[in-house]
Amino acid sequence: MGLVEYKKKRNFNETAEPAGAVKKSKDKLAFVIQRHKASRLHYDFRLEMEGVLKSWAVPKGPSLNPKDKRLAMMVEDHPYDYKNFAGEIPEGNYGAGIVEIWDEGTYEYIDGEGIDDEKKLMTGLKSGNLKFIMHGKKLKGEFALVRLKGEDEKSWLLIKHRDDYAVDEDYSSEEDTPKNSPINKWLAQHGKGEPTSKKKVQ
Ligand code: MN
Repeated sequence: MGLVEYKKKRNFNETAEPAGAVKKSKDKLAFVIQRHKASRLHYDFRLEMEGVLKSWAVPKGPSLNPKDKRLAMMVEDHPYDYKNFAGEIPEGNYGAGIVEIWDEGTYEYIDGEGIDDEKKLMTGLKSGNLKFIMHGKKLKGEFALVRLKGEDEKSWLLIKHRDDYAVDEDYSSEEDTPKNSPINKWLAQHGKGEPTSKKKVQ
């Protein structure tokens, strides 16, 4: 996919998001999950593959409970440097709002033996069945991303596999977010509604 679509959507004179280039981790593959308060609060799940971040928007956030199948909408590839991005995207720009890093770390193909991981991951990505092990602060162990059959080809499900890191109780990524995170501070001041759209109605 490359970064053409990513760059087309953004004006880098206005947003502090990285314009970015194709880059790779030296050793292990990186992942990041950003919590993003845009017109709606959602999570952006990003996996490094072939020098870019393959990206999915997850409206409800990830779960550690294998019973939860979380809808994940595939979006445009993001540059490798986006994994370090947190801050504000100014009003009038694509994705305007606040981005914070919710979890980060490394990940690997499920039978990962290092160097061929990316080829196997790309094969999984193309076939709509991606299995991997996450080494994050919050997300650990085996996960799968499975593409739903349908005309848009963009809808996937993010599912935790049953392992030592899985939980049986209800899991909420919102509750697993520090109360003083930048977005939570904003929400505490402005409320959980959608203030911009409400203002327009009045
Ligand atoms: Mn987003």
